[in-house]
Amino acid sequence: MKEASNGDVGGSSPMIDPFGRAVTYLRLSVTDRCDFRCTYCMAENMTFLPKRDLLTLEELNRLCMAFIAKGVTKIRLTGGEPLVRKDLMSLVRALGKQVGTGLQELTLTTNGSQLARFAAELYESGVRRINVSLDTLDPEKFRRITRWGDYSRVMDGIDAAQRAGLNVKLNTVALKGVNDQEIPNILRFAHGRGMDLTIIETMPMGDLDEDRTDRYLPLSKVRADLENQFTLRDIAYETGGPARYVEIAETNGRLGLITPMTHNFCERCNRVRITCTGTLYMCLGQNDAAELRTVLRSQNDQLLGAAIDEAIARKPKGHDFVIDRARNRPSVPRHMSVTGG
Ligand code: SAM
Ligand code: SF4
Repeated sequence: MKEASNGDVGGSSPMIDPFGRAVTYLRLSVTDRCDFRCTYCMAENMTFLPKRDLLTLEELNRLCMAFIAKGVTKIRLTGGEPLVRKDLMSLVRALGKQVGTGLQELTLTTNGSQLARFAAELYESGVRRINVSLDTLDPEKFRRITRWGDYSRVMDGIDAAQRAGLNVKLNTVALKGVNDQEIPNILRFAHGRGMDLTIIETMPMGDLDEDRTDRYLPLSKVRADLENQFTLRDIAYETGGPARYVEIAETNGRLGLITPMTHNFCERCNRVRITCTGTLYMCLGQNDAAELRTVLRSQNDQLLGAAIDEAIARKPKGHDFVIDRARNRPSVPRHMSVTGG
């Protein structure tokens, strides 16, 4: 991949939003495609974007360089499933070279299916930590939740990642009547293998073919259940993200809780999201966005920087997720696989 400059992007001014929050974290969805069809994330017969609408890997790299020049210190690659994007490693290698020169961390969120193939290369390219999504330890249930996923491949992927030296954090979506009974075991599994665990409430995003009000499980309930078996202690640990952390005395491990539906975490928001077509979303839970593809393709770094500044000036104070129970409609019509969670 050609080296992209991170020169003078719109004066390279740092991105401070109208509420005084510095934007330092970019989540980049490199594809909307996926080799799984998790029931809470996608319909089984999803229609994906035509490939010609996607930014090339070179363009994604240039976009990242523009954001690094404007103060982004952490980039997370996500999707869809990032590791199904053809030749993704060329982007990972290019961005990996920036780690330590403005960029502090390059990371990735994955379903784990392709990790056995790519773990070592991720590490060699400069990635040190990854998130792997895992909602159950039961292979049958794993198939039901992911529809197309193979549990043993994901386990092999986690093994390979740890062998390669990657620090793995597990993400589990709490699903009422599906994995609520299992969360203590997932916690023991994660902490037993030296992995942090974060539990996430389901968010109402995108039309699906199942009733999401049925699956919504507030984390206050998960926490109360865990307290029957474990000693939880709130800790001040911070990653600049939405998770609140507790320490579990019995496992000596850390548990993150992300509660978009019951807790407003927006006041500390430091992030923006970009889709694989170059749409910049200033908030996961709002619809306002800025299209950067045309200005990116104009090859004019000043204009690109100005377009980013103009978008950051519109970053909203917070989100407003609600499940519209009467119509079972999501409050945000795009799927999580578009903006990458
Ligand atoms: N495919 C990768 C994966 O599954 O990790 C990366 C993309 S996925 C959209 C990112 C995260 O979003 C995953 O942890 C997934 O469980 C979560 N997610 C997807 N849909 C969600 C929803 N409706 N509510 C809460 N989390 C969701
Ligand atoms: Fe794919 Fe991740 Fe969505 Fe599951 S959660 S369908 S693995 S993008």
